[in-house]
Amino acid sequence: MRATKEQDFKALVDNHPQAIMLATREPRITYVNRMFHAVTGYREQEVLGAPPSILSSGLHSPDFYQEMWKCLEERREWEGVIWNRRKNGETYPQWLSIYPVRHDETELYAGVFMDIGDVAAGDERLASLAYYDPLTELPNRTLFQEFLQARVAQRATRDTCLAVIFIDLDFFKGVNDLHGHETGDRLLQQAALCIQSVLGKDDVVARLSGDEFAAIVELERREALEDVCERLIAAFRSPVIVGHREFFLSASLGVAVYPGHGRTSVELLQNADRAMHSAKRAGRACYRTYSAVDSELGIHEQRMSEALITSLKTAPEEFSVVYQPQYELGSGQVTGMEVLLRWQHPDYGPISPGEFVPMAEQRGYIHELTEQLVRCILQDLAVMPDRLRAGLRLALNISARQIADFRLDKLLEPLFQRLDDLDWMPELEITETHLMNLSKGLLQRLEYFGNRGVRIAIDDFGTGYSSLAYLHTLPVHVLKIDRQFIKSLENRGHDSRIVSAVLGIAEALQLEVVAEGIETGNQCSALRQMGCHRGQGYWLARPEPWSKVINQFVD
Ligand code: C2E
Ligand code: MG
Ligand code: MG
Repeated sequence: MRATKEQDFKALVDNHPQAIMLATREPRITYVNRMFHAVTGYREQEVLGAPPSILSSGLHSPDFYQEMWKCLEERREWEGVIWNRRKNGETYPQWLSIYPVRHDETELYAGVFMDIGDVAAGDERLASLAYYDPLTELPNRTLFQEFLQARVAQRATRDTCLAVIFIDLDFFKGVNDLHGHETGDRLLQQAALCIQSVLGKDDVVARLSGDEFAAIVELERREALEDVCERLIAAFRSPVIVGHREFFLSASLGVAVYPGHGRTSVELLQNADRAMHSAKRAGRACYRTYSAVDSELGIHEQRMSEALITSLKTAPEEFSVVYQPQYELGSGQVTGMEVLLRWQHPDYGPISPGEFVPMAEQRGYIHELTEQLVRCILQDLAVMPDRLRAGLRLALNISARQIADFRLDKLLEPLFQRLDDLDWMPELEITETHLMNLSKGLLQRLEYFGNRGVRIAIDDFGTGYSSLAYLHTLPVHVLKIDRQFIKSLENRGHDSRIVSAVLGIAEALQLEVVAEGIETGNQCSALRQMGCHRGQGYWLARPEPWSKVINQFVD
């Protein structure tokens, strides 16, 4: 009975799907199973009696092995990723568990391992391990760091360019909030494919967390790095279709190159992350290479965003608004105004909304910011002169992410009522890039505002990727042509054709057009000739506090 049992056990171990090795304390290998040959390439007779170090890749430091033995002594087990070398010289990562076993009065060590370089090729059993992201089937942060450590260790023998690219999707939180996690998950899978489609088979791509990915690339020449980054940005530019809807993803990339931007795996990843943040600050959908100066800026921005939250909670007097009049270009009559928020901090001085609005969005304080906006406007509108013009538009900038927030209705209601009293009309400006990823529910919210008599404007039109077909389905009334197209209008070049095209689209869809950023008389007359309805810009009037603009609005 006993013999059969032992045989059964032996058969079980011999045929186990993971590689198994037993070693003595010295250490010498005393047993290997069949899978051992499949993974390492060594036959039993080649390794019996040899030290286990015959398998080692030389990629790990002596400290690494010391830690491993320390852990074995203290906890009686060790688990982790270790890079070994096959008989044919190839290095590979393996997931290894070691634990002591007693056999016939001697203490042996059992090592159970498997090749995890294969997991991405579809070995589902292993996907559950702590080293892969089940959603994208990419290595996770832990494994990425292990790979990176190994690549850094190999550097002594190679003279290629080793770089870490940190990839963070833009506005992804919004997609998740608006469309739910299932759609978010599908988009993340698409993003993973998109990155892999650009990189080579020897490059490592990993999902670090949420919407963060990272890659290790090794190139013959450093100059080729720029090309890789540009192709990544371009790959993200194509729309992605999930559940019959088009999504417009984009990513911000940060690059750190060994050894100038970091000599260890930790430094490289950290600095690639910092570089990614400077790509975000530069307006997203672009890449930046690490520089220590940018990193200082990052710390500055961090402090400023802390200050913003504190001010929003405790110092409403730091916020104010200015009004920039808008005119009918044909007649020169004032048609309304855009309200722009201002923040003046005692230490940092005046900070541009281009800077603090994205901070508030990122930190989840955009509602509080709009509270300040509404409070300031109501304060200004409280006292009104007689003979005020009727029918003026008051345009507010609203973050697309806020549209879904039902607190917005309650917040805006008193303002809408005040405007009703004045016989003025509210307009909500939403930036184009945000509008393109609106869900059905959100479109209904826009319709709700539309029914409430609020006009919806697409701000910075021309900078996003609106398709004509899509634009047609949106409940919007106004297109605001981005000022970058107005700038070079005088030359009658490419941009002037874009402006004509926008005017054509607007006419076909019966939308009103506002040109923003008119800085010269020539731009203004060019727009007038093209038939543009409304305009605003420094040449017509600068944004000013209420007391300075009020005269414009009386008859
Ligand atoms: P925007 O809505 O496109 O606003 C127009 C920006 O262009 C304003 O900058 C305005 O001062 C500026 N501008 C006006 N005329 C000219 C011109 O002739 N030439 C040039 N170069 N610029 C001109 P500002 O006030 O710095 O606002 C920047 C952005 O911040 C706004 O872009 C808007 O997206 C955002 N923002 C401003 N106030 C708010 C707010 O209350 N809430 C939200 N969510 N965003 C706001
Ligand atoms: Mg605006
Ligand atoms: Mg604009």
